[in-house]
Amino acid sequence: MPQVRNNYIDGAWRPAELCSESYNPSDTSELVGRFAIASTADVRDAVNVARKAFTHWKETSPQQRSDILDRAADAIDRRTPELATLLSREEGKTLPEAVAEVTKAAHTFRYFAGEAVRLAGASLRSVRKAVDVDVRREAVGVVGLITPWNFPFSIPAWKSAPALAYGNCVILKPSELTNAIAWELASILHEAGVPPGVFQMVMGGGDIGAALVSNPDVDAVSFTGSEAVGRLIAVQIIGRGAKLQLELGGKNPLVVADDADLDKAVDAAVRGAFYSTGQRCTASSRIIVDAAIHDDFVERLLERTARLRVGHALDEASDIGPLVSAAQLERVSRYVQAAPSGGARHAYGGRVLETPANGYYFEPAIFLDGNMRQSINREEVFGPIVSVFKATDFEDAVRLANATEFGLSAGIFTASHAKARAFIRASNSGMVMVNLPTVGSDYHVPFGGRGASAYGPKEMGLGAVEFFTQTKTAYIAD
Ligand code: NAD
Repeated sequence: MPQVRNNYIDGAWRPAELCSESYNPSDTSELVGRFAIASTADVRDAVNVARKAFTHWKETSPQQRSDILDRAADAIDRRTPELATLLSREEGKTLPEAVAEVTKAAHTFRYFAGEAVRLAGASLRSVRKAVDVDVRREAVGVVGLITPWNFPFSIPAWKSAPALAYGNCVILKPSELTNAIAWELASILHEAGVPPGVFQMVMGGGDIGAALVSNPDVDAVSFTGSEAVGRLIAVQIIGRGAKLQLELGGKNPLVVADDADLDKAVDAAVRGAFYSTGQRCTASSRIIVDAAIHDDFVERLLERTARLRVGHALDEASDIGPLVSAAQLERVSRYVQAAPSGGARHAYGGRVLETPANGYYFEPAIFLDGNMRQSINREEVFGPIVSVFKATDFEDAVRLANATEFGLSAGIFTASHAKARAFIRASNSGMVMVNLPTVGSDYHVPFGGRGASAYGPKEMGLGAVEFFTQTKTAYIAD
């Protein structure tokens, strides 16, 4: 029986009265971990401790903060195989996907270790005579980070690293489905020498996230998760004038123009729609194909999808692991069952798989001839489901791509530079991919969406500076 992993408050591991357990979605007979569930009193304590710690932490030298982040990156690098295995066991993504996620977290810590010492302001002449203007960037204060289960190591990392680099105190509330891997991150930061109260972690469900959001001493909240919860949080945070960053869902289009390299386009469609079991905010869920190549594309897509192997996340032969939970399996199945009555034609898959045993396995599904009004093409499903649409021409494809209230990631496959540029200009999304899948991003440039997909400054790169610092303008005369 694994020992209970406790919450991390004021530099120590604090037990709780209540405890939860998590099981491997690839084999639900395997217990992954046991976790202390924080109380709302724990959240209050953590915020009070963070408030006090902030007065010292914001004054630490950038070098000290940089060194801590560097040590965290080293530890992640050293422990990558073990962390990736735990991530696969807990979330269900395949081992190569888990290794990529853990590696990205290490890169993120190392990048922000450098950024801590590079934080720049601006120095300008005033419009007034003999006056100088100094625009500085300072830490925001106590920040609450609320994260989802689908990237349970890299998202906490890409929020924590910049927050700490720029002198903020962090309270992380990870997803209740992925406490084990989040706990490892807390443990790595503890070992790396983060002072008490500067990084803390409270585990629990939505009520614990809500307790963090409603605490008036939390100066900023960065949330990644569903649109529904994001909207709830926005009402409270904007209502009390705190800083807010939301990264929400997507309904990401992949356009395949008539001049596209079809093999590459099919490969990107399969990777974007089905890998990570479709549980990525940037997953391609609407593939929009020029009428001239539509039938050829669909034939190749069906053939390639039929070769995908769904299985245990740690089995080297598996291309796709299970869905994360029974609730997710039920949700995805519901969308698949409802799709034909909305007008879509079922072309492939969509069954709950009985083998291997004891897991939440779901066969990738393809629908054709649907319309953008039906729920499967309007709402985020978050599973291995894709709809293929026929566009009459390039303008029609762009129109269909933008026919969504979301705006996270959009892709196009084309050999034409002019079409690629036109698509970049016309897209309503925060990220555009040319001859690449809609999934995949770098750690040193802004990540995030528009419209219903996001609110506030983007994450990573310059976006992180915007969110985790605030400016102070000083006017200086002799
Ligand atoms: P979720 O919204 O159910 O939960 C996210 C987090 O919010 C969890 O930690 C949860 O415990 C917490 N929470 C739930 N109710 C809360 C409340 N009332 N107040 C405060 N916190 C609360 O999302 P999920 O199912 O964990 O993750 C899947 C979603 O995340 C998808 O919609 C996906 O698109 C989105 N996502 C977005 C991005 C992005 O960068 N845009 C990246 C990954 C995932």
